[in-house]
Amino acid sequence: MVIDVKKEQPRLDQAIQPMSRLNNKIMLPLNKIPKQWMNIAPFLPEKPYPCLLPNGMPATPDIMNQIFPTECVKQAMSAEEFIDIPREVREAFALCNRPTPLVRAFRLEKALGLDSDRIKIFYKGEYVSPTGSHKGNTAIAQAFYAKKDKIKGLTTETGAGQWGSALSMAGTMMDLEVKIFQVRASYYDKPGRRVLMNNFGADLVPSPSDQTEVGKAFYNKNPNHPGSLGIAISEALELAMKTPEYKYSLGSVLDFVCLHQTVIGLEAKEQMSIAGEYPDVVIGCVGGGSNFSGLAFPFLKDKLQGIKTETKFIGAEPTACPSITKGKYAWDFGDSAKIAPIAKMFTLGHTFIPPAVHAGGLRYHGAAPLLSMLANHDLVSSEMFHQTKAIKTGMLFSRTEGILPAVETCHAIASAIDKALEAKDEGKKCTILFNFSGHGHFDTHAYKALQDKKLIDFEYPNEAIEAALKNLPAVDESKFM
Ligand SMILES: *Cc1c(COP(=O)(O)O)cnc(C)c1O
Repeated sequence: MVIDVKKEQPRLDQAIQPMSRLNNKIMLPLNKIPKQWMNIAPFLPEKPYPCLLPNGMPATPDIMNQIFPTECVKQAMSAEEFIDIPREVREAFALCNRPTPLVRAFRLEKALGLDSDRIKIFYKGEYVSPTGSHKGNTAIAQAFYAKKDKIKGLTTETGAGQWGSALSMAGTMMDLEVKIFQVRASYYDKPGRRVLMNNFGADLVPSPSDQTEVGKAFYNKNPNHPGSLGIAISEALELAMKTPEYKYSLGSVLDFVCLHQTVIGLEAKEQMSIAGEYPDVVIGCVGGGSNFSGLAFPFLKDKLQGIKTETKFIGAEPTACPSITKGKYAWDFGDSAKIAPIAKMFTLGHTFIPPAVHAGGLRYHGAAPLLSMLANHDLVSSEMFHQTKAIKTGMLFSRTEGILPAVETCHAIASAIDKALEAKDEGKKCTILFNFSGHGHFDTHAYKALQDKKLIDFEYPNEAIEAALKNLPAVDESKFM
């Protein structure tokens, strides 16, 4: 029997309105997995800045191609609005439960005492990915393009393990080796993610290790060195640069990572329109800035084109690592050993020492250059939250909506709730959309700390930020701009 696909697909204009507790989600059919990514570059108020080498001059594509998959380097320099998503990548997206649901948080709205006709909270459910977060969206694309470069494998770093598990999964899908340097403290504290990565066949070492020059400098002094993301990035980069059949993969920050994440916003825009809505506020938590960029950029395009000028965009950061809220817009290194390229971004300084808070995925010293430029033009704003407040809202969310959020995601939820309550106090209408970047099934220690009343809040001291900002590299923009 031949099935007429066109006839079988639900018609998208048959909106399931009004939404109700029985109609609380907008699901898209599989043929609505985006066919193209959306590039924000042509709409920006300034041309994107290049990445620089330690000598202060722009990195050429030749040099970038030695580090990253060739196609990714090309994408990062593209001025085209739309960039095709290869069929193989879309197939892997289908396996990873794209399109992800858009959910109306009716029970959370009720718990907050909101009038559901006036204040509406929507979230985009990236938690349905097999490894639990949005990170698979770029991991799959990077692994596909690395395979196209005919190399053997990718090196990378991971902290808590969300990025490492996404890239390990993508590696098995694309038949590519994955070598991961995991921050030693997390390697031993969070065995769950480690098992997941090993299960996907990844080669995992605690960092600092004795396998790289950067690692040895720390390891030989102290084999139990707890490590940091900055050191692990340096190790992964060093290995990729000295091994020709390997390239390096990064899970956030870079322009092409933000591009890959736009599938989130493209789907969400279509889903919001089926719901008959357009958000007044778009929110995401910010570590390196990729999940927030991915949700926000397709909506931001409307603002940049003067179509929807009133929409607000808010990045939610931890008070312990407030890169945009308290950092400086400046040129800085992407890693501690100063091997990674220099980028213009909001930064707390590459010597920033991340305090041990639970939101492991938000503890990066910088924020994506594209997002940083938009924040510098006040087109995007940021807020910061203490972890106790964030994790408490995560608990409220799990008790109302039934899903335990990743601690990173809790920051976005805290911001969404604040905006909803503000609108309620002011008697205004408000439609809020936030990105549910990932579930917290490996974060139970954070919720346990809350239950045991052992959570300690930490505000990164201004003096420490001032001190770290003294070590920024000197860059003379007039030499290349
Ligand atoms: C890694 C991670 C983040 C932070 O990274 P971004 O690049 O800022 O998106 C947020 N949420 C989850 C669940 C993560 O795994």
